[in-house]
Amino acid sequence: MQDVIALLPDHVANQIAAGEVVQRPASVVKELLENAIDAKATSIQLIVGEAGKQRIQVVDNGMGMSATDARMAFERHATSKINNANDLFALHTKGFRGEALASIAAVAHVEMHSRRAQDDLATKITMAGSEVVDQSFVVSPVGTSLSVTNLFYNVPARRNFLKSNQVELRHIIDEFHRVALAHPDIAFQLINGGNELFDLPAENLKRRIFHVFGRKIEDKLVPIDEQTLVANIRGFVLKPDAAKRTRGMQFFFVNQRFVKSPFLHHAIKSAFEGLMHEGMHPGYFLFIDLDPNSIDINIHPTKTEIKFENEQSIFAILKSTVKHSLGVFQIAPTLDFDHRVDLEVPHSEQTKSVAPPQIQVDRDFNPFSSEKQHTFQSQIQPKWEALYQEIGSTEGHQESLLPDDAAKETLAQQKFFQLMRRYVVTATGNSLLLLDQERAHQRILYEQFLATITQSNSASQQLLFPLEVEMSPLQSQQLNTYTSLLEEVGFKWNNEKGNTISIVGIPNSCSEPQALQVFDDLFSSLTDDAPKDTFEQTDHLAKILCKTLGIKSGKELKEEEQQRLIDDLFACKDSQVSPFNRQIFITLTQEELQKKFY
Ligand code: ADP
Ligand code: MG
Repeated sequence: MQDVIALLPDHVANQIAAGEVVQRPASVVKELLENAIDAKATSIQLIVGEAGKQRIQVVDNGMGMSATDARMAFERHATSKINNANDLFALHTKGFRGEALASIAAVAHVEMHSRRAQDDLATKITMAGSEVVDQSFVVSPVGTSLSVTNLFYNVPARRNFLKSNQVELRHIIDEFHRVALAHPDIAFQLINGGNELFDLPAENLKRRIFHVFGRKIEDKLVPIDEQTLVANIRGFVLKPDAAKRTRGMQFFFVNQRFVKSPFLHHAIKSAFEGLMHEGMHPGYFLFIDLDPNSIDINIHPTKTEIKFENEQSIFAILKSTVKHSLGVFQIAPTLDFDHRVDLEVPHSEQTKSVAPPQIQVDRDFNPFSSEKQHTFQSQIQPKWEALYQEIGSTEGHQESLLPDDAAKETLAQQKFFQLMRRYVVTATGNSLLLLDQERAHQRILYEQFLATITQSNSASQQLLFPLEVEMSPLQSQQLNTYTSLLEEVGFKWNNEKGNTISIVGIPNSCSEPQALQVFDDLFSSLTDDAPKDTFEQTDHLAKILCKTLGIKSGKELKEEEQQRLIDDLFACKDSQVSPFNRQIFITLTQEELQKKFY
């Protein structure tokens, strides 16, 4: 009998390997972006045509390659990143398998230009189906430009399985987000079909997050920063009220590499327990840095899964850090989001690694519970006490300066005072509290409206003379999407001829001019990127209502009204900032006051 075993020809082996590495255009994008980062580029451009089906090009200003390396790069198992198996356990680069370029070149047309700083000319290599078609020297800037066209031209089955351009582009953008968020210090650009989708300068993480996801996210970021022996954790989580019904903004980076980890996700979910409505997903951008020796990222060819040596400790640290930061954030009297969380934590806490948080999050909080809005009194006490304690701890004292009973007494005989018809002033413990009446009331109303909208139980007053509102056809369309929300807060109207409505009922707390103002504001705010899901629409409407109906600066307040404002404010879920992200109050401690006297 004849022998039957033969080695597969290279191009066949490469095509088989490509099956694992290159599933769709987004896989090519990932590999090319990672190569550019490994080459220490500071600026990377990604250009795609037809969602990558026609073209994917990455241009970097990294270290480039010599002529020989440029040729070698397309061989299978050719890599400059590891020399022996031990290096696998101390990886500091994204790539290491030396498979990506060989695989890509097996299933597409590739043209690469690459030049090192010390060379005068760049090497140009053209490949088709693993074969070098042409190699020459050309004039090109330092760095590498790699262009992949006609992906899967020789694997029709793959090509036919690609999804619509919209879906493939979504995958590309997802990869781009992951890489761009992991490396805020690198400038990135993404151009699709001639349109610039992203142009991100080198910046810090916080700014990178806004640039990618929009400014609206700014007031939702809670900083996380924890250093322990096992791992360092930094980044941001989104406040519970920014949770989404769909998963999306969930990013874990382990040693700057995006990973998917149901396990870590679970740790975050459990930190948010009790703070979020059932079925909502927390958002996070978390960077875990640890010894590369203690992880195994090599369990999946596309390298998004990960195994940890100290799985249980990582879980515990992550959970407690996030929980702690959420707790601190809600009662800390400062609004500097760039500050380090641990500055607000009593010193003894900072040195602990895996410890349950000392400052407890309100586990019973449920923004959808009906009791919440009507039990202000029962809540004031703990909130005020937390404020006293916080003031005490920022001064570096071990205990609150006011003993409990004294605190309660002060509360009972509290004096209130209005300044410039704009601020309400009072003393809390041993410090002075100054709050902005307009912002405070916006916060109170905002939370009340959120609650009434979600409970749909608000009272309405009937109008004797209906208010007519005329709209454009587009506005009347837009009104439709808000109908049920508006009804839930107490608006009622009838549709008249054309695009006119007559408002016959308005919320109890609302005057007629204010009602018209609400409709006006609603229409003028509904532009192209108007909120699409009910969650965002609710938030949007609550913001309009609290702005229109809130107490304004310049309004004189009676002492009871001042007291009520303060009580209601500190019964709020988030008493720090107005719904528009403005600071509501400031405190001046005895020490700070003393410094002003000389
Ligand atoms: P890996 O990244 O796993 O090493 P690749 O097939 O992606 O394997 O790349 C092979 C080699 O080509 C890399 O190790 C690197 O030396 C070189 N290379 C690839 N892309 C670039 C680039 N953009 N700039 C400089 N060198 C590159
Ligand atoms: Mg690579």
